[in-house]
Amino acid sequence: MSQPFYLIANWKMHFLESEAKALYGAFVEFAEMDAAVKVWVAAPAVHLPILQQVRSGKVPYGAQNVHFELSGAYTGEISVPMVRDCGGTFSLVGHSERRILFHESEELLGKRAEGALRQGLNIVYCVGETLDQRESHQTMSVLENQFATISELVGSYNNGELLIAYEPVWAIGTGRVASTDEIAEAHLHLKTLAAQAGNPMLPVLYGGSVKPQNIEEIATLDDVDGALVGGASLDSDSFRSLYQKSAAALNR
Ligand code: PEP
Repeated sequence: MSQPFYLIANWKMHFLESEAKALYGAFVEFAEMDAAVKVWVAAPAVHLPILQQVRSGKVPYGAQNVHFELSGAYTGEISVPMVRDCGGTFSLVGHSERRILFHESEELLGKRAEGALRQGLNIVYCVGETLDQRESHQTMSVLENQFATISELVGSYNNGELLIAYEPVWAIGTGRVASTDEIAEAHLHLKTLAAQAGNPMLPVLYGGSVKPQNIEEIATLDDVDGALVGGASLDSDSFRSLYQKSAAALNR
């Protein structure tokens, strides 16, 4: 069977209970109209038990970060058993907002990734260069360094258990989307690294100002297996439009 296209909503630190429930309900209404596109939601941790009340198998949900220990004195963190207990199936790891605003190191992110997978939680590992790094021609080496953190995991876990999201930091929440050439080059590089690590089919998603206006050209790029979406996932109309447009583009 061909690989699905993942459309993953990152709700970041948005919404109160009723809003999260309503938006999740709206996603459930349109998700799986097309089997080729899979919708996942990365929700704030406090929303996981709320989503559990209205849970649908059509829209798996998960956390935005997760600790590698089962339990312990880690104030402010959540564990894999907690996420799973609330019905969560995955977590983001290494989002650039965690890397930059909260100074999470490659070493810490590697532990988070390995711990989550070992304990049965799927992960979306985020990588991507800053504007300075792109302008000083370091993009590919930055991606190599970030990829190295999870390269041993890549050959050991199946597609759908471990996904990568390429998110150029300068394109996140800025309205500035990477060009199709920039996306294609980075994705090809990541796919090559994945092949060297033993899994040429590793799903690689793009993230960074994905909107209904640009999803079609991004979804049809060769090495793009999905999109991680912040801003445009906060509204049911724009996310439905992303869903419909990516499904239409993939079926063409
Ligand atoms: C993100 O949060 O991962 C993201 C890509 O955000 P946005 O779509 O708003 O750029």
